[in-house]
Amino acid sequence: MNEFDAIAAKIREADAILIGASNGLSITEGLNLFADDEAFERLFGDFKRKYGIRCILHGAGARWPDEREQWAFTSRLVGHYSLDYKGSDAMRDLKAIVGEKDYFIVTSNCEYHFELCGFDPARIYEIEGSWQHMQCAAACHDALYPAAEAIARMREAEEGGLVPGELIPRCPKCGGPMMMHVMTDRSFIVDEAARAAQGAFVRKYMNRKLVILEMGIGWRNQLIKAPLMRLTAANPNATYVTINKGEVFIPDEIAARSFGLDGLLADKLAAIREALARA
Ligand SMILES: [Zn+2]
Repeated sequence: MNEFDAIAAKIREADAILIGASNGLSITEGLNLFADDEAFERLFGDFKRKYGIRCILHGAGARWPDEREQWAFTSRLVGHYSLDYKGSDAMRDLKAIVGEKDYFIVTSNCEYHFELCGFDPARIYEIEGSWQHMQCAAACHDALYPAAEAIARMREAEEGGLVPGELIPRCPKCGGPMMMHVMTDRSFIVDEAARAAQGAFVRKYMNRKLVILEMGIGWRNQLIKAPLMRLTAANPNATYVTINKGEVFIPDEIAARSFGLDGLLADKLAAIREALARA
């Protein structure tokens, strides 16, 4: 039996699948926060030259002259990578792999591609926030507001790197600036309902057959990877599958129940899907 058939067998007999995803998945889907690549040039070449921003992450944390530039950057970013998103082969393979099983997704990615691909929003915890929502930048209250409409309007109206002042979102309570619901500083509002849903899922499958499928998470990641490895160690019926290019790390204590797939995420997901279809 090859590795993929063995993984497929574990998935077939599993009661549920717990999926962890980080920026390796984003990169697979064409969103690279760290790169000054062709996509960055196409989307943000003007900002690059005017303000010296070197990549999306740099732009997201930049001190813009004022909110009109900041929202021009943000609405272009979210508009392109979320509002215009059309799915990917990797996501289609993942959906097929999950099939009808119960699942939960925990991710540090903000671009909400899981929701856009039809995964159940009630079974997703976006640990570092999501571009689906905005919040008061001062966190004067803890409500999250849908962002898509405001983003679409701002992107549409942007001219020369500026969003018209009247379209800039304001906090409905304090009238102050809004920000995307993304973990930047202490004002970030934790999605307690999603966190609780993850806790309930983990408790439900604590000693049952669980496949933990980890995609594109660097070996030092403490936010998602470390808890998933601990969960595998604590549940003798759990199988741990980690996919990462050049960074597969599996501790000895769970090695016998683990599969480390070193390579491109899209290729590995396709191979697992094929293996599942073979039986
Ligand atoms: Zn406020």
